[in-house]
Amino acid sequence: MTDDEGLIGTVARGTGGVWHVVTADGTVHEVSMRGRLKKADVGRRVGGTIRRDTAAAARDVLKLAVGDRVRLEPDERGSTLAIAEILPRTSRLARRAPAGARGERVLAANVDQVVLVFAAARPEPHPRMLDRFLVIAEANDLPARIVVNKVDLVDLAEAEARFAAYPRAGYPVHLTSAKRGDGMEELRRVLGGRTSVLTGPSGTGKSSLINALFPGLDLRVGEISASVNKGRHTTVGASLHALPGAAGGFVVDTPGLREVGMWELPVESLDRCFPEIRAVRDQCRFADCRHGVEPDCAVRAAVARGDVDVARYESYLKLSEELASEKPVW
Ligand code: GDP
Ligand code: ZN
Repeated sequence: MTDDEGLIGTVARGTGGVWHVVTADGTVHEVSMRGRLKKADVGRRVGGTIRRDTAAAARDVLKLAVGDRVRLEPDERGSTLAIAEILPRTSRLARRAPAGARGERVLAANVDQVVLVFAAARPEPHPRMLDRFLVIAEANDLPARIVVNKVDLVDLAEAEARFAAYPRAGYPVHLTSAKRGDGMEELRRVLGGRTSVLTGPSGTGKSSLINALFPGLDLRVGEISASVNKGRHTTVGASLHALPGAAGGFVVDTPGLREVGMWELPVESLDRCFPEIRAVRDQCRFADCRHGVEPDCAVRAAVARGDVDVARYESYLKLSEELASEKPVW
C-alpha cells in the first residue's frame, strides 16, 4: 500500500537494528530506522525540558515490535528506504500489565487474536498450562481461541467434553486433525484476514496445521519446551508470516511468549482474567475477595452451582497462590 508520503508495511522480524518490513505486494524490505527518528531515541533536552515529541518518539523507537505498521521513506541520502514513522497500534502483546508500565516489553503489536494449539492426545493436554496462556491473553485484552488438534487419535465426543469449560467461558474451541483434515476449513477461515499469535506446547501440531493450510509457508513454529519453562530467559525474536490467499492475514510466532511472566500481573487483577469468574466477582461480599476462604464468596457459590468449572477455579487458585508468592512455577 502506498500513499502520498511513502510506503506502508508490517514489521516481520528484527535483529541488530535491521528490520524486515513486508509490504502489501509481499516484498520484504530490509531497513533500518531513519536517522532522524533514531536520534530522538536519546530523549535530548531542549532548553531544560525534554521536548514532548522527542520523548514520545523515543518511546516508540524503543518499543518497535513485530506486527508494527510502519511508514517507509527514502533515508537522508535518498538511496535506500528506512522506517520514518511507526503508525498507532491497535493492540499489543506484552509481558507486563498494565499497558505502558515501565519496562514493558512488547512481544508483538497489532495482534487480533491468540490461538492456542493443544493436542487431544500425544502429548496429553495440560489444562493448567492452557489456563495460564488464556490469562496472558486476557491481561493483554486479546481475544483467544483454542485449537484441539490430533482428534484422529481420540473419540471426538470425548475430546469435546474434555474442553467443554472453555466455550462456556467464551473461548471458541476448534477440533482439528492436521492428519485427517478435520476442522481445517474452519481454521483457515478464523486465521484469514487477521493477525494471530499462534502458540502451544511442543509437538501439538502447530507446524503441521500451518503447513497443511498454507503450503509453501514452510513455517516451523516455536515451541514451549519443558526446559525453557523452568525460568530460563532466552530471548528469541518473534517473527511474522504473511498468509497466502485472498483473505490475507498474518501468523506471529513468538517464542518470547513463554517468558511472558504471569507473575508480573498484580494478583488482584487475576480474577478479571477468567471471564466466567469476572462475571460474578462483583457479587462477593468483600471487594478485595480472593475467592479462597472468604465468607459470602460469589465465585465459590458459582463453582458449587456448576456455573464456574471446578478445574478452571483450581487454576485460578493455583495461579493466585503463585502470583502472591512471586514464585513462578512454569
Ligand atoms: P509442533 O511442535 O506443534 O509444530 O508440532 P508438529 O507439527 O511438528 O507435529 C508434531 C508431531 O505430531 C509430528 O510427528 C506430526 O506428524 C504429528 N501430528 C501433527 N498433527 C497431527 C494430527 O492431527 N494427528 C496426528 N495423529 N498426528 C499429528
Ligand atoms: Zn469471592
